[in-house]
Amino acid sequence: MKLRDLGLPVLFALSLVPRPAAAWGYEGHKVVAAIARAYLTPAVRAKVDALLAADTDTLEPHDMLSAATWADSWRNSHRETSQWHFVDIELDKPDLASACFGFPPTAHPASSGPAEDCVVDRLAAFTAELADPATSQAERILALKFVLHFVGDLHQPLHASDNHDHGGNCVVLALGGPRTSNLHSFWDTRLVEDMGSDPEAVAASLRAKITPTHKIAWEGGDPKSWAPESFAVAKQSVYTIASKPGCDDKAPVNLPAGYEAAAKNVAALQLERAGVRLAWVLNHALAP
Ligand SMILES: [Zn+2]
Repeated sequence: MKLRDLGLPVLFALSLVPRPAAAWGYEGHKVVAAIARAYLTPAVRAKVDALLAADTDTLEPHDMLSAATWADSWRNSHRETSQWHFVDIELDKPDLASACFGFPPTAHPASSGPAEDCVVDRLAAFTAELADPATSQAERILALKFVLHFVGDLHQPLHASDNHDHGGNCVVLALGGPRTSNLHSFWDTRLVEDMGSDPEAVAASLRAKITPTHKIAWEGGDPKSWAPESFAVAKQSVYTIASKPGCDDKAPVNLPAGYEAAAKNVAALQLERAGVRLAWVLNHALAP
């Protein structure tokens, strides 16, 4: 949800309706963490677990999969962090720098801001903090939880693109019969739920498809290179539906033939990439 795009009357109206689902939903973030966990070195896995075990926050359980959902729960009571979860690269005028508010200087510690920043910048800042031996234990735990979450967010294509439609939240889909959804929740929740209800099992089946060649190809890069990739996925896959830019047209949009099956493959690919890259980030940042 891109609250900064909305006027006050719309903001008030939105406060009366249920909040849209978060990127990937909680299950998707757990799937990403479960894929990543399998690729962590034993020493880094132990470090992750030790950091999470030392966490005094009780918002989410302290296992790695649950901790990957923490940032969305935290956002509910810390709205100043809400823009950190996405990067609104506009389909009609892609500009990473403007979608990132001009890459503002980060505060120290990184958890204190700035509020106007994008997921690309925040992920880089928290990764640097995680790797810095001078970071306090409390801030390192926060940095770890944000990194666990933001790698997933950045790979959800509707969190790296915008069609002036609040990340697809305005696009109503006609799914046949009583099934309705909006484009955003279709991608972040429905497609993942269709893969299965157990994140560990979904992760295992996705991991089985990741070849050593994939892994080598996906490792490397940084948030600034992963964002355009996620944006390209949005352009080539998500927005192949006949939706208009903006939020004025509320008519349900039919999915083109084959869209749902193709979307499921694309969502799986993005979850796999996110899992491999999350492990890669953690293995470097927390290397002994
Ligand atoms: Zn999020």
